[in-house]
Amino acid sequence: MIPAVKPLSVYIHIPFCVRKCAYCDFNSVSEHTPQLMRRYCGALMEEIETYARRLESRYAVETVYFGGGTPTLLAPSDLDGILSLLRQRFAWRPRPEITIETNPGTSTSQQLRALAAIGVNRLSIGAQSFDDAELRLLGRIHRTADTCRTFESARKAGFANIGLDLIYGLPGQSAAGVARSIDEIARLAPEHVSTYSLTVEKGTPLSRSIAEGILVRPDEKTQAAMFRAVIASLVKRRYRHYEISNFARRGFESRHNSAYWTGADYIGIGAGAHSFLSGRRYMNAVSVRSYIAHNRRRYDRALSGDERLWEKIALGLRLTKGVCLRDSAVRREELSKKAESLVKEGLLTMSHDLLKLTKKGVIFYDRVAVELI
Ligand code: SF4
Repeated sequence: MIPAVKPLSVYIHIPFCVRKCAYCDFNSVSEHTPQLMRRYCGALMEEIETYARRLESRYAVETVYFGGGTPTLLAPSDLDGILSLLRQRFAWRPRPEITIETNPGTSTSQQLRALAAIGVNRLSIGAQSFDDAELRLLGRIHRTADTCRTFESARKAGFANIGLDLIYGLPGQSAAGVARSIDEIARLAPEHVSTYSLTVEKGTPLSRSIAEGILVRPDEKTQAAMFRAVIASLVKRRYRHYEISNFARRGFESRHNSAYWTGADYIGIGAGAHSFLSGRRYMNAVSVRSYIAHNRRRYDRALSGDERLWEKIALGLRLTKGVCLRDSAVRREELSKKAESLVKEGLLTMSHDLLKLTKKGVIFYDRVAVELI
């Protein structure tokens, strides 16, 4: 019998940035000389070749996501080289979703047109805020006017699927400040909006300023109120709240990220990238130089049945439609016991095989996940 061809999502990590933002703990580096970027692209191509040989024709590419970092620091011709190799070495599904992240001020109109021409059909813009003082505080290289220019250039270049990212819960930020950013997002009318509460990571300049008392974060109650206001405001403007942090016009949900949340197979190419294939998890070396020097694998291990189950619940619960456990080997008693107090508190519902966060539970997902898993 011929085995079925499975859909595959491909993440490609481009770790280069113009400079590090004050809150950034992501795997990104400000060093981005042409020579280093060329060597890195060479290493990406080698890793794609390795996966192509290994996976043979068992998969067909459904989505590609260039994330970072700032992937648009690579020339469109380099990105085209990567896409061409993927097209050559893998089968593809019809109408693939091909996303690239960009940061305002790093892509010109010409570059955006070139991206559309090589087949990129979804743009995710790291707007983060529409208040210049907040952008300065975050150490971003761009200002509000750059975001608006990038957005309008992207529309002119033909992008019909654009996402904007927003961070709330910044030091000194008021509910009115968040509302102003949402108003600006609504004016631009992207197809997708991702919203994140600011995470203060140890060792970042922002965490030092907070530790020294120079900056003060809104307390948890205020942050929860901001999140509630963000949800209400976007839902009122006809964005579907389909995942804890994500909102979309109908039909514009991120297909790539949905693959993660539903436990589908994906490969991650590049420094620090993760892969998940047939129940095994892989992670690449984090440092750019180690990655280039072929010290690629950091770990490779099969998840146990229990780990897969709890991961399915943790990821699936992020979706507002909930997670169906019909075909899962769930120990009902154990799950019901863990869920009992969360259900009583009105954070979770369990009916038949469907486990789902309530509206209140969405705000407190982290707590629910810890208690449940
Ligand atoms: S643009 Fe993003 S990845 Fe780059 S330094 Fe800023 S937060 Fe980090």
